[in-house]
Amino acid sequence: MEHIVLDMEWNQPWPGSPSAKKVLPVQIRGEIIQIGAVRLTQAGEVADEFQVLIRPKYYRRLNRRVSKLTGIKEARLKEEGLPFLEAMERFRAWCGEDVVFLTWGFDDIGILRENLRLFGQDEGWTSRWYNAQMIFNAQTDGSNSQKALKTALEIFGIQPSRPAHDALGDAYHTALICARLDLERGAREYDQALKDHDNGFHGAELPGCVCRKVFYDYPSKNAALAAMNGPENLCPVCQRQMLGSRWFAQPGHRYMDMATCAEHGKFLIRVRLSDQPDGKIRVSRLTYEATSEAAQAYARRAEKADPEERRGASRRRRRRRTAVAEVRAEQE
Ligand SMILES: [Zn+2]
Repeated sequence: MEHIVLDMEWNQPWPGSPSAKKVLPVQIRGEIIQIGAVRLTQAGEVADEFQVLIRPKYYRRLNRRVSKLTGIKEARLKEEGLPFLEAMERFRAWCGEDVVFLTWGFDDIGILRENLRLFGQDEGWTSRWYNAQMIFNAQTDGSNSQKALKTALEIFGIQPSRPAHDALGDAYHTALICARLDLERGAREYDQALKDHDNGFHGAELPGCVCRKVFYDYPSKNAALAAMNGPENLCPVCQRQMLGSRWFAQPGHRYMDMATCAEHGKFLIRVRLSDQPDGKIRVSRLTYEATSEAAQAYARRAEKADPEERRGASRRRRRRRTAVAEVRAEQE
């Protein structure tokens, strides 16, 4: 069995552009424009490399941010890019049969699968993969943060020798890191590493966040929110159920509520809902100290929503927009 370290670059439509309004038969987060890959031998040595540019079919205008980040120009894609199916055929032939993918992050494999689906292709060959970030964390400082590739290189004292945000460059650097990891052990302990990651801090929370937990399998948004300010609304100190007050919606399927423990006082709860592949609801829940900035944003929001206001629906909508903007500003 060989490991293929994979990295890709993908194009996204510019917000508001005609491409952004296109409804595709399969929803994709981005259309792949570059694949870079490096083989690790059974002995864990960095071996041969693969690279291909892909001419996008659906999002043909190259997003200028993507272009700036990757250094890829639209003209070059038109000249050198292969159609997706041809590029995939080459990539699969290079990979061989018995492969396990390694990526830096959770996105690449998902986006590869979405693109395969969009083009009506089999995706079974991508079923075995690991996010090398998780193995890196488990075998270094044990943290749960998703580290940038650059940071991981620094930690291992590896001098970058290839361009960043180039698919092959990133795959090569990831391969150098993977060559120093115990991948067999990483695979054995991967499920635990994923769980630690799910329940741990990710570095993206605001200051004052005291705990993070993930919940699965709610049949609906309302069921998820009911559990979050019901039986799962536990005080981070004594683990007894807290009393919720009222959910306020925030952008991105997020909600916040101020909860109270009879003994330990107030805590701000922030949840983010997302769809599981099976259609059920996953909840990521953060608990903040009542003195945190996030909690102060809630207090200001709640102040505005007095009962008088709540009767006027249009006014409430207007108010909500203002509050949402305020919370956003708070986060920036
Ligand atoms: Zn308590």
